[in-house]
Amino acid sequence: MSDNFETNAIRIQSQRSHFDEHSTPLYLTSSFVFEDAEDMRASFAEEKSKNLYSRFSNPNVNEFTEKMVNLEGAEAGYSFATGMAAIYSTFAALLSSGDHIVSCQSVFGSTHTLFTKYFPKWNINTTYFKAEDAANVEQLIQPNTKILYLETPTNPAIEVLDLEFFGKIAEKHNLIFVVDNCFATPYLQQPIKFGAHLVVHSATKLIDGQGRVLGGVTVGKGDLIREIYLFARNTGPAMSPFNAWVLSKSLETLAVRVEKHCENALKVAEFLENHPKVEFVKYPFLKSHPNYETAIKQMKMGGNIVAFEVKGGIEGGRNFLNRIKMCSLSANLGDTRTIVTHPASTTHSKLSEEERNEVGITAGLVRCSVGLENVDDIIQDLKQALG
Ligand SMILES: *Cc1c(COP(=O)(O)O)cnc(C)c1O
Repeated sequence: MSDNFETNAIRIQSQRSHFDEHSTPLYLTSSFVFEDAEDMRASFAEEKSKNLYSRFSNPNVNEFTEKMVNLEGAEAGYSFATGMAAIYSTFAALLSSGDHIVSCQSVFGSTHTLFTKYFPKWNINTTYFKAEDAANVEQLIQPNTKILYLETPTNPAIEVLDLEFFGKIAEKHNLIFVVDNCFATPYLQQPIKFGAHLVVHSATKLIDGQGRVLGGVTVGKGDLIREIYLFARNTGPAMSPFNAWVLSKSLETLAVRVEKHCENALKVAEFLENHPKVEFVKYPFLKSHPNYETAIKQMKMGGNIVAFEVKGGIEGGRNFLNRIKMCSLSANLGDTRTIVTHPASTTHSKLSEEERNEVGITAGLVRCSVGLENVDDIIQDLKQALG
């Protein structure tokens, strides 16, 4: 194994079969065979590390997981069918009734639903803090707090939280520090370097990067992953070998893709910042971003998501979307294709204006997941839609 990200993302590979294939084949098999009774006994007793059944492990899934473990600088990992399966299983494996979570308020929608609708059924409660109140987060920690959770950059307000600061708080209070690193990918940011114990991902986004398959993964400390693995092997949220095969191939190009996504996104952000119909732009690597110093400390580049406020409120945002010609109106992000969404009239339309403002979703806020098309074409489309 190399010290370099790109090389490991390409060269980590499951053992070659006797066909000497160059590229890893697809192991579409639900189970594996044993030589004799003793081989089978020892394998089930975990005295041998053999694949038994694809709910537990599979060569394609192992290859993808091993790459993610390496790229995040983790000890171990387990891959899941979706990002939400990774997030749910991570909490469910580690928490008991009566435990408490402290989390940043801007989290992915389904994560918010877990915290507010499902976990309370099992007497697991969550206290939120706003990104701008991060300095006071210690006041929210209770004797039963077990997990400190956050995403950075956040969605869709694109706030950047200081991983080093939260890593120290987690250490001081003996909390398990879990980071959803979906927006940055390990190419831009490795939370474990700043004290995270576990990193969760939706591999559906930039890791696949081409809008094809769903996937999730949790990597981190070996003892915690062991608990998560045992929970998962018995409850069944495993990643499919086919998706793992696609995603492992995707990782081979993650560095070049993310680099180009970020270059394009910075150009889009700079264009928008100078446009008279745009009230403000939020992009981590713009000097005008309130958390710019934190962003350049912990991120290699600014990511591919640009948020901006179109003048004219809800109608302004809706009109902008209606005039878009090339970019896609879609709920995904981190795709080769540029995607624009208007949260206030779609994903967050059921919230009151006050609730939306709480999570940084102003009336004319547009979220743009900048793709890999020629950046001149992306800018041209946004320009004509701004009118
Ligand atoms: C999409 C997403 C998830 C959920 O992942 P799925 O693969 O859709 O289940 C979790 N966190 C973040 C930040 C996401 O963008």
